[in-house]
Amino acid sequence: MEKFSVKMRASEKDKHISGAEQILDATDLGEASVSLLTRALTHDKGNADFIQIKMEKKPVEEILFLKALPVTTRTTLSVEEGREEMLALLHQMGLKQPVSVLEMLPLTYHMRGAMLLDVTTMERLEPDKSRGIRATYMDRGTSEQKLKMEPPSDVEKKEGGHKGVKNHFQEALILATKVAHSPHILGEICISDDPHYVTGYIASKSLGYVRITTVKPMGSPHGGRIFLFSGEPHEKEETIRFLQEQWVLVEDVPLSPLSSCETMRETMGCTIDEDNREISGLNKVGEQGPFLKHDNKFLRYQQELDEWRELELIREEKVLFSSNISQKMSPSWVEYQNTPMLMMASNNYLGLTHHPDMIEIGKKALENYGTGTGGSRLTTGTTPLHQSLEKTLAKWKGTESAMVFNSGYVANFSILSALLRPEDVVFSDQLNHASLIDGCRYSGATIVIYAHNDMEDLTRKIEETLESGTLTGQGMIVSDGVFSMDGDIAPVDQLQQIGKKYGFLFFLDEAHSTGVLGETGRGLCEHFHLKEKPDLLMGTLSKALGAEGGFLCGNKIIIEYLRHKARGFMFSTALTPAAVACGEKAIELLEKDCSFVRKIQDNVCYFNQCCEKYKIPTHSYTPIFPIVVGEEQRAVEMAQQLQKEGFFISPIRYPTVAKGQARLRVVLMASHTKEELQRTAQAIAKVLREVN
Ligand SMILES: *Cc1c(COP(=O)(O)O)cnc(C)c1O
Repeated sequence: MEKFSVKMRASEKDKHISGAEQILDATDLGEASVSLLTRALTHDKGNADFIQIKMEKKPVEEILFLKALPVTTRTTLSVEEGREEMLALLHQMGLKQPVSVLEMLPLTYHMRGAMLLDVTTMERLEPDKSRGIRATYMDRGTSEQKLKMEPPSDVEKKEGGHKGVKNHFQEALILATKVAHSPHILGEICISDDPHYVTGYIASKSLGYVRITTVKPMGSPHGGRIFLFSGEPHEKEETIRFLQEQWVLVEDVPLSPLSSCETMRETMGCTIDEDNREISGLNKVGEQGPFLKHDNKFLRYQQELDEWRELELIREEKVLFSSNISQKMSPSWVEYQNTPMLMMASNNYLGLTHHPDMIEIGKKALENYGTGTGGSRLTTGTTPLHQSLEKTLAKWKGTESAMVFNSGYVANFSILSALLRPEDVVFSDQLNHASLIDGCRYSGATIVIYAHNDMEDLTRKIEETLESGTLTGQGMIVSDGVFSMDGDIAPVDQLQQIGKKYGFLFFLDEAHSTGVLGETGRGLCEHFHLKEKPDLLMGTLSKALGAEGGFLCGNKIIIEYLRHKARGFMFSTALTPAAVACGEKAIELLEKDCSFVRKIQDNVCYFNQCCEKYKIPTHSYTPIFPIVVGEEQRAVEMAQQLQKEGFFISPIRYPTVAKGQARLRVVLMASHTKEELQRTAQAIAKVLREVN
């Protein structure tokens, strides 16, 4: 009898994206290859352009059969406690210098494999220290292998995950079992490197597999693995050979750490990827597995807050006052900490929040209709103002119909979750706004994320999806029109064409383009001179229009359907009349007078010239100018420095944008004068030079 090892490895432009291995009978090779191939082609880390599937054969007599290590869980409630627990276990394992061992862990954070550490001399034994040692050729024992081809869980489907996804806890246990049985190895220590998980484990033949529920702060991407070696120097070759070459099948692998409770499986997730890194632990913060009673119900929230604080992720609200520059309230100026500052961070693009006509109409609405509506739109919340605004919006955007929501966020969330169903597939730009992401997720539809503004990637992913047969319902493409953190414009004309070609719905979020782009501020349809409107044209009254509330423009069918289906519309008190009146007034102002729109577009032009003059590395076709400065700390310091000089500019950093992509986000308004823009550019150039 013989067995086959099957290994899959997929990369894109030489960057690794996915990999997996199995040990199987010859008869299962076909099915396994298909499943691995699907996984390689649908991995959300990238689009494989190189896939390798390697098969090797070995007689069963040469395979080592092991029994899975027994699993126990230690619940720790803080990183400190987790560390204490790890030290105690290492001590129990007989290590003389447990503290020094833990101190070595950070050195593994950027390694692909594990560190091989001589616990007597504290010497590192990996031949290649950047790569580390990777244990391979291991799988679950024969009798259990059939279980492995599990269909994706609902959660995985929802996240647009791949088929044939494995039970990650089992993978971690299989690896730990092999390592613990390696010659001259005392055991292993592992910390998850997934920022969403805080778990780790210590495993050895004597201790078994001990899960520790909190070992690092939430949000931290730092994790790694050390194999603990204890032997003569020349014996390390034998250890490495075993880890890398000995075929191992592990029997009696429980389905979950709470082995008796199989239905809990879907709530678990402890991944090791092919590089032997645990990429997601078993417990999210606070999930303690079986019910665990605490004296303090608020403890876990407090802990998480503490951990965020440690990571400098806690954000303070900044209290701003209107500033009366030369006796006149101006949208461009605010008072912050008793100092007047030039506002260069607001979405109030046209400065309409302070327009006298807006203020007057708001007051009038208060006088005529009172402060609130007292009910949802379908009960007591509709005033003539609401209906009039919806009519005006439809006319202004050139669609059959329109409806108003309480905010842009609520609009996106309720529209998408009402329109999309689990059998649908939604193609979503990688940098889409959170409200779009949340709406897609809540709908239960399959989400396929395509690379930012990359039409080739979108087309390829649509083709792949159609071929795979995942799409049994409706397809939809969803995109921001102007991306809020980058200020760039989606290729709306192409998105619309692609949508048309495949018969998909096209949803465009015009939060940042309404009132700003197009000759008269009507947004991207005007900007691109589109003949037809996107099927779903969403926007907000709260940015350029200076009021509050979200809206959707579309055909009568869609709008009527959503009035009966969008829960954020049906089950929430209608917008206050003052906000509604101001929203409509803003449109009226724009229809009457293009000068606001021309002014913001002029300012964009002028600020581009200023940036060129002062050699500031940014350029934009919209009022949003990202200036990428790299490190989080640098962006924060630069913003502080600018604040001292009287400029209110936001530093944007992880998790809003990727790590190391921290930036200053400068936002222009129509109310800024050329002199103000020029001074801003000058000040930015100065801090770029001074802050390193
Ligand atoms: C701001 C924003 C929203 C949310 O609009 P609100 O009215 O502020 O809730 C939705 N989508 C995008 C792209 C946004 O930038």
